[in-house]
Amino acid sequence: MAYTILDTSNLEAYLFSLPQIKSFFNTDALLINEIGDGNLNFVFLVTSADDASKQLILKQAVPYLRCVGESYPLSKERMTYEIRSMERFSELSPHIPKIYHFDEEMSMIIMEYLGEHIIMRKGMIDGVKYPKFAEHISSFLAETLFKTSSLYLSSSEKRELTAQFIGNSELCKLTEDFVFTAPFMEHETNAELPELSDEAERITKDLELKTKILQLKHKFINRCDALIHGDLHTGSIMINEEETYVIDSEFAFVGPMGFDVGALIANLAMSWVSHTVLDETSDYADWILRTIEEVWQKFEKKFLQLWDETKESALFAKGFADTQIRKAYQEEYMLALLRESIGFAGCKIIRRQFGIAGVDDIRGIEDAQKREAANRLAIKIGERFIKEHNILNNINNAMTLIKA
Ligand code: ADP
Ligand code: MG
Ligand code: MG
Ligand code: MG
Repeated sequence: MAYTILDTSNLEAYLFSLPQIKSFFNTDALLINEIGDGNLNFVFLVTSADDASKQLILKQAVPYLRCVGESYPLSKERMTYEIRSMERFSELSPHIPKIYHFDEEMSMIIMEYLGEHIIMRKGMIDGVKYPKFAEHISSFLAETLFKTSSLYLSSSEKRELTAQFIGNSELCKLTEDFVFTAPFMEHETNAELPELSDEAERITKDLELKTKILQLKHKFINRCDALIHGDLHTGSIMINEEETYVIDSEFAFVGPMGFDVGALIANLAMSWVSHTVLDETSDYADWILRTIEEVWQKFEKKFLQLWDETKESALFAKGFADTQIRKAYQEEYMLALLRESIGFAGCKIIRRQFGIAGVDDIRGIEDAQKREAANRLAIKIGERFIKEHNILNNINNAMTLIKA
């Protein structure tokens, strides 16, 4: 169907025009609520008027940035990349909501409603522990990153995959601008934060820091290791004690693996900052630290296990490397991945302090002094991450950079 913006006035008729959706609901009337809370798109919760248990989610991209309005155009084709990546990820991992229907022309996807799950950031702000999170997200990362890389795919499969996402340039540019650039200079899009002006000024002039940021941004622009989610913060995870789902993959492209691992570490670390500042004795803060460590350790183990099971790939021709050679290369590879993950995490932490989009964990702290203390602690950690990422040797070194 030709692109039409869906709203509460035309959504019912549209859904009833799709046979499989019509039969899913098996009713004459639908209840429709717009529940989107993100920056970019519209998300509708649709419920059968006869049977409240029959629900689904419809997400549509509009040709502008939702949080700014029509004055900030952004091509609706970004949804194509969300659809393609969700399809690919769901072949590789169970941690993706079921897709019922999609239409690239309509920039629209219809998917499973995760009614018993909440956005992880909200749960973490409330201090909820998720005992299975590290297990689940490490599997998601290992399966999706390994199996879309040249360590698993053939050379032609890898290039074909890269080509499928090469057009997601507008969203990659958003990341280049808002994660790696504007927050580290004077820029009109940055948040108005006079209480942090000393820090902003210092960072703007820090030669070592800015050189390292350029190195990381260069990796983001030029590397194509694997299909990455591209925006894997705790607001893109829906969770409860039993299950974990990843949503909102419109930033997906074939890029550096460490960007996803780093996004996760950055957002867990910012939650740690917030809980530490609000309550020094909080055992929740300790749970977060253990979780960061566990996510990395489990990820590394699972990634290497998948690697050991793989007989041949674009990189590893049959007979090229014996076990000793493979192990030596693996060790080097995982250390480089850890280092760049921490570097990317540092950029992400700092950008959430100065940049246009903050995180509720910190910007939501009501007490102005505590909020500022959290900003400053986060900046310190982000800075250490960026400056020391390429000399650390294991995850414990990274944990020390948080706690120091
Ligand atoms: P955006 O790209 O605009 O950030 P998201 O995909 O993050 O959109 O969705 C916005 C919000 O809609 C999420 O924060 C979540 O609250 C809700 N949402 C999205 N997908 C689902 C789903 N499958 N089940 C339940 N809620 C969802
Ligand atoms: Mg979102
Ligand atoms: Mg399920
Ligand atoms: Mg999004």
